[in-house]
Amino acid sequence: EKASSLQVFDQMESEVRSYIRSFQTVFKKASNAKLWDKNGTEYIDFFAGAGSLNYGHNNEGIRNKLVQYLMDDGITHSLDMATEAKETFLVRFNEIILEPRKLQYKIMFPGPTGTNSVESAMKTARKVTGRKNIISFTNAFHGMSLGSLAATGNSFKRGGAGVSLPDTTFVPYDGYLGGSVDTSMILDKLLDDPGSGVDLPAAVILETLQGEGGLNEASVDWLQRIEAICRKHGILLIVDDVQMGCGRTGTFFSFEEAGIEPDIVCLSKSIGGYGLPMALTLIKPEYDVWNPGEHNGTFRGNNLGFVAATEALSYWKDDELERKIAADAEIIRTALQGLKAKYSSHIVELRGKGLIQGLVFKKADDASRLSKEAFKHGVIMETSGAHDEVAKVMPPLTIEKSLLQEGLARIEEVLSDMYDSTAS
Ligand code: PMP
Repeated sequence: EKASSLQVFDQMESEVRSYIRSFQTVFKKASNAKLWDKNGTEYIDFFAGAGSLNYGHNNEGIRNKLVQYLMDDGITHSLDMATEAKETFLVRFNEIILEPRKLQYKIMFPGPTGTNSVESAMKTARKVTGRKNIISFTNAFHGMSLGSLAATGNSFKRGGAGVSLPDTTFVPYDGYLGGSVDTSMILDKLLDDPGSGVDLPAAVILETLQGEGGLNEASVDWLQRIEAICRKHGILLIVDDVQMGCGRTGTFFSFEEAGIEPDIVCLSKSIGGYGLPMALTLIKPEYDVWNPGEHNGTFRGNNLGFVAATEALSYWKDDELERKIAADAEIIRTALQGLKAKYSSHIVELRGKGLIQGLVFKKADDASRLSKEAFKHGVIMETSGAHDEVAKVMPPLTIEKSLLQEGLARIEEVLSDMYDSTAS
């Protein structure tokens, strides 16, 4: 048994560096918040495809729609041509998501990934304003293409570009300089002062809660001040909701609580409903500057994505899912607070909200150790932050309560194994 799985690893060594290093198994099946590997070992999914599986693995309602669509000879690939699946999605997205929130956006299909959405958002802002510079924030994560990487505040990832990336100015995110410093003032000053050397930007791009960057959360006041600064200077505000959107923080859009109205919103990951590649860029109608053919891409109109996404929207027709997220968030918060109190000399902070919360470890390596040991206890969880110092709890929004509690209990067991013999 062991020999055969090692053989698989040898074969998979041909894959460029990836998760096989941290989660050493070959997965085979999944259902809602559970995964099984080839050997039949069961795992609890506290990672949810980095936020791509908000409605769980193989969501039954969505799967039924997909199977039916395939059986009915529904079109799978149509470039960006109009299809019934696309039309239905657009109508339902407006009805269920935008109209009740009194939001008006035109919808662009930028390509299949979050990176595509960010790239198209930045291009739109440059085209609208005729300016080049983009303001981004420390620890931001926006994607892997040159433009989105330029706006990613992580020198390790940027190193992958092999060259320095132009036309971005980084400003400290909320909390970066400690709780008492209002970093929006820095942005305001830089933009007001010709002596700052900062070119008037096309856009400010931000995540309301930085998923990859360590679960840093912007306050409502800070977000409102950033919006006001954008309005004052005629700068477009882009909210990258690729990871925090579709309910991760508790509401469909992560910026709802702050009451801000971004000019452009990037969505991907869970918008595809079933883990299917799909992305949207929501653009205020007055900023739709695109002519046919100017921004295209072969996989922009994933019809299976539209079918899955349309069915997933039914979760947002009432507030049942939102209430479930709030209740589960409380379960996670209480559990993590308990762990922080118990292991206070190792765990320095609890971060995040909704179904993305995490523990910040004093020794960054301990977060990776927790992730590695949790895997041995049948829990898949990942780390984030510039030093991988935050261990994240990020299950599908549809996780069964008992499974959530079971996963949290296993994390406690792991921490007990890590620390109790050495005393905290
Ligand atoms: N923006 C944010 C906030 C993300 O978390 C990610 C992915 N982790 C991206 C953009 C890029 O998305 P993708 O990996 O689909 O290109």
